[in-house]
Amino acid sequence: MKLPTRLIHVAQQPDALGSVIPPVYQTVPFEHEYDRHGFEYSRSANPTRRILETVIAESEGGKHGLAFASGVAAITAVLNLLHGGGHLVVSDDIYLGTYGLLEQVYRPWGLEISYVKAEDPDGFRAAVRPNTRMILVESPTNPLLKITDIRAVADISMQHGILLAVDNTFASPMYQNPLALGAHIVIHSTTKYISGHSDVLGGAVVVNDDKLYYDLKTYQRSAGAVPGPWDCWLTLRGMKTLPIRMRAHSENALFIAQKLQQHLLVDHVIYPGLPTHPQYALARRQMSGFSGMVSAELKMDGHGVQRFIKALRLFPLAASLGGVESLVNHPARMSHSYISADQRARIGVSDSLVRFSIGIEDADDLWSDIEQALKTVMSDE
Ligand SMILES: *Cc1c(COP(=O)(O)O)cnc(C)c1O
Repeated sequence: MKLPTRLIHVAQQPDALGSVIPPVYQTVPFEHEYDRHGFEYSRSANPTRRILETVIAESEGGKHGLAFASGVAAITAVLNLLHGGGHLVVSDDIYLGTYGLLEQVYRPWGLEISYVKAEDPDGFRAAVRPNTRMILVESPTNPLLKITDIRAVADISMQHGILLAVDNTFASPMYQNPLALGAHIVIHSTTKYISGHSDVLGGAVVVNDDKLYYDLKTYQRSAGAVPGPWDCWLTLRGMKTLPIRMRAHSENALFIAQKLQQHLLVDHVIYPGLPTHPQYALARRQMSGFSGMVSAELKMDGHGVQRFIKALRLFPLAASLGGVESLVNHPARMSHSYISADQRARIGVSDSLVRFSIGIEDADDLWSDIEQALKTVMSDE
């Protein structure tokens, strides 16, 4: 069976009462003498969560899935495999929440961390030390949509006997499956494309290895950052439409990227599905679609970008992504305002950079809105 069928049917057969849709098991305890199917207390396991975990594992073609209360809770679970020690190699241009977690929680705790250029596998190789325990990458990256060659980095991790974890949030399981490319661990913020409606926080980890699963499961039960049954149910509902949503996101994103590219107020557009992306060939090789994130460098300063964003009607200025509704983000003023201007310059995040999360609205409507907002800035000059 293909993914669209599996997302709807795996682990979701009608239950004993004939309920076609899996129930929300809104309970914490399970009766002790009952045949509990392994359920005892909902922090350890909950039936609605277990269905979600099965479907998420399925979506990545993996053996084991684990659901967490948020994406960063999932990343925390993965980082705790290091037991607070050793050395971690991370790609730059990483999600700022992950950067915060690494710098504010793990570095003070003693973890050594090196950042390397996401697009350069040789940099990963050079950064490995005798005490390196894990490589963590994100591809495409945020907000510059750089592509990491996952297979090449997986080879490096294999040669050195270290773990490779890939945050696959931006590509979604529809368009990229890191386990098949040699990664040991896949991470998702299910808050984004997987749930798809910007109404529920969640995270997930998928692995094939039984020992890794055991360790992560032990952490999940012990640390307790689990999603509630309702959140699991909402995420499951979202997953059923993941394939059609992703197709709509990708189609719209390519259309908007091409239109932006032709506009005289746009310096350049960054979208992995454009032949002008420096890693277009690699993106085509390791992804089966290019998702809905589009970044663009506008020919205006930060104030101009602010005026552009204010003039948009269909794109709220907001921090999230991956929902059915389009959003716009100004990294220099939002996520990346927490790092210094120097650091921003080093990564390549300028004041003129905007990031769009392209939703599934009508593409012509989206472009008309962007076009009128750009016109507003032009007439202001
Ligand atoms: C949003 C996001 C996260 C964090 O997820 P939360 O659900 O907000 O905790 C991690 N990685 C990436 C790439 C993200 O976009």
